[in-house]
Amino acid sequence: MKIICIGRNYVDHIEELGNERPESPVIFMKPDTAVLKDNEPFYHPDHSEDVHHEVEVLVRIKKEGKSIDPAFASNYYDEIGLGIDFTARDTQSRLKTKGLPWELAKAFNGSAPISKFIDKNGFDLKNLNFKLEKNGETVQQGNTSLMLWPIDEIISFVSRYFTLKTGDIIFSGTPKGVSQVKIGDRLKGYIEDRLMFDFEVK
Ligand code: MG
Repeated sequence: MKIICIGRNYVDHIEELGNERPESPVIFMKPDTAVLKDNEPFYHPDHSEDVHHEVEVLVRIKKEGKSIDPAFASNYYDEIGLGIDFTARDTQSRLKTKGLPWELAKAFNGSAPISKFIDKNGFDLKNLNFKLEKNGETVQQGNTSLMLWPIDEIISFVSRYFTLKTGDIIFSGTPKGVSQVKIGDRLKGYIEDRLMFDFEVK
């Protein structure tokens, strides 16, 4: 199983980090050792002093595909979820300055907590509200209508490079409001009014 993530997919988040608006999707991956499930706690790594939460809508791929046309991309997933793309922002800033790959900042152990997956039917994926609460306060709020590349276009784009397989997970990018997490923080994520995850930073 692989985790494919898109960076810089919401204009408001691009602006808060002072990044350029990309001409094509910014893609990176996380290994399966990054996954946390079932509200397992996130153990803050000691290699970073500035780990940020990035709440993101997920889709789980249900069958193998490559070079998928965007018009058919929705046939490749039935389930959506919510996750956090934990990012060691201090490490990422150092790597970005030098033009180096981001794995040490993005793909470390526990950097991909994911919710249970739910049937996509009943949700409008082009107009889906989601949010993250930190210690009871809403810190990130997004709507999928504000993505630069919608989910079906992400699937089409990445499948030209990587064969998608059953169980692969796509992280579809974060809206603004990213901030540091500290030991003791409690993170709750919602799709519309539905609680998707609830875990602690330890
Ligand atoms: Mg992200």
